[in-house]
Amino acid sequence: MPELPEVETVRDGLTRHVSGRTFADVQVLHPRTARRHLAGAEDLAAVLRGGTVGDARRRGKYLCLPVDDDALIAHLGMSGQLVVGPPELPLTPHTRARFTFTDGGPDLRFVDQRTFGHLAFSPGGAVLPAEIAHIAPDPLEPVFDDDRFAARLRARKTGIKRALLDQTLISGVGNIYADEALWRAKMHWARATDSLRRADVLRLLAAIREVFYDAIGAGGTSFDSLYVHVNGQSGYFDRSLAVYGRAGKPCPRCGTLIVREKFMNRSSFRCPRCQPRPRRARW
Ligand SMILES: [Zn+2]
Repeated sequence: MPELPEVETVRDGLTRHVSGRTFADVQVLHPRTARRHLAGAEDLAAVLRGGTVGDARRRGKYLCLPVDDDALIAHLGMSGQLVVGPPELPLTPHTRARFTFTDGGPDLRFVDQRTFGHLAFSPGGAVLPAEIAHIAPDPLEPVFDDDRFAARLRARKTGIKRALLDQTLISGVGNIYADEALWRAKMHWARATDSLRRADVLRLLAAIREVFYDAIGAGGTSFDSLYVHVNGQSGYFDRSLAVYGRAGKPCPRCGTLIVREKFMNRSSFRCPRCQPRPRRARW
C-alpha cells in the first residue's frame, strides 16, 4: 500500500508533469472510482473538463490537485497509480480515469487494479478541501506543530504505535514507517504514550522525518509490481528497511534477530535488544 513517501513522490511528479496545464477531455471509467462523488462518474468528469491545474498538494495519503478554485482529490488506496505518458498509448484494463490536456502533451491516467482508490471533486477546495480538513497534518507539512503533537500524544492512554496510526493525531504514518521510525528512535511499539517525556516525542518525530526523507530520496518503497511512480518507475527504499518484513534477520545496528509480533490484525517488527519491552506498556 502506498504510504506517505510514495504519495509525496507522486505529488512531486504531478507538480512537475501536470501543473499549469488545462484538462481537455476527462473520462471516469469505473463507478467505484467516483463513489465519493454523489452525482456519479459522468458528472465528476464533466466538472473537471476545461479546468486548469495548480500545484499538487498532499495531506497524509490524500493528493489534492487544485483545479481553478476547486480541487480534485485522489486517494491511491491499495494499488492506485497515477501514470503520465504518451496519449497514443492504449488504455490498460485497469485504467479507471483518463485526463487529456489542451496542449496535446502527455496524458494522465489513474490506474487502480483493486479499485480501493478513489477520485473526488471538492468545490472551492483549492487551498484545503473540506473533505480532508479533519485529517491531522503530517510531520512533513509546515503547519505541523511538534509541541502541540507532543502534548496531545502524552494526554492519550494508548500505545505509541497505535497513536502513530491515528489519522486525527498525526497523518501519513502507516505500518511500515511506524516500525522503521520506532526502531530508529529505539522505542518499543507498545510504549505507553502517557509515559513519554516531551524529549522522547521530539526524538520520535525526528526519526519519523528522517525515515520519510530517506524514503523520498530513494523514490519510495515498492513491495509489489502494483505500485509505480507517476512516471512509471518503482521505488527502491525496500532495500534499506531496517526491521519491517525482516523477521529472523539481524538488526542492522546490533545484530540481534528481528522479531515479528501480532499488532491490530497486522504485524509489528522490532529489535528485541534496541527496543526492549517497556516498563509501562499499552496495547
Ligand atoms: Zn538492535
